[in-house]
Amino acid sequence: MSYWIGAAASSSNPFDSVTSFFKSSTWRFVEYMFVFVLVVIWLSCAYWVYKDARRRIEDKVVIAVAVATGLLFGPAGALIYSIVRPPEYLDDIRERELEMRTMEQRLAEEQRCGFCRAPVRDDFLVCPNCMRRLRSVCTKCGRPVEPTWKICPYCEAQVVDESTMLYNNVYR
Ligand SMILES: [Zn+2]
Ligand SMILES: [Zn+2]
Repeated sequence: MSYWIGAAASSSNPFDSVTSFFKSSTWRFVEYMFVFVLVVIWLSCAYWVYKDARRRIEDKVVIAVAVATGLLFGPAGALIYSIVRPPEYLDDIRERELEMRTMEQRLAEEQRCGFCRAPVRDDFLVCPNCMRRLRSVCTKCGRPVEPTWKICPYCEAQVVDESTMLYNNVYR
């Protein structure tokens, strides 16, 4: 404001010193600095979007669109991206999927026939598909006994040798 008053007092044309200021090297420097800062902000927005999108998005085209949004709209583009981006990192998703697959595999192994891979329940004595013996029955209490068990955990009776039972069952 004081600048305007000073300009009006010293010169017949009050706009003279104003225009000369805008033509001065100081103003040009301010202009350049402004543009420079703007470019840096724009580029860093696009770079941040690129770095973040690479960790969250698999599709290269979608990443390119996200980076283009960052380049075009700068901070606003980065803000839009941060709203619509996938909430999870790809690494986390992969890790979870791997965990799920391992768990499923373990579950499937526990509930399948060791010979033909047919689904069985853990109290089945014989596989309903290949008819091979999965477990024997305790001679004393009649409960299913795993082939690896040496003693019945329910009644403490000695488990009969499994190999002869399996042989008899398969070649019966
Ligand atoms: Zn089977
Ligand atoms: Zn028993």
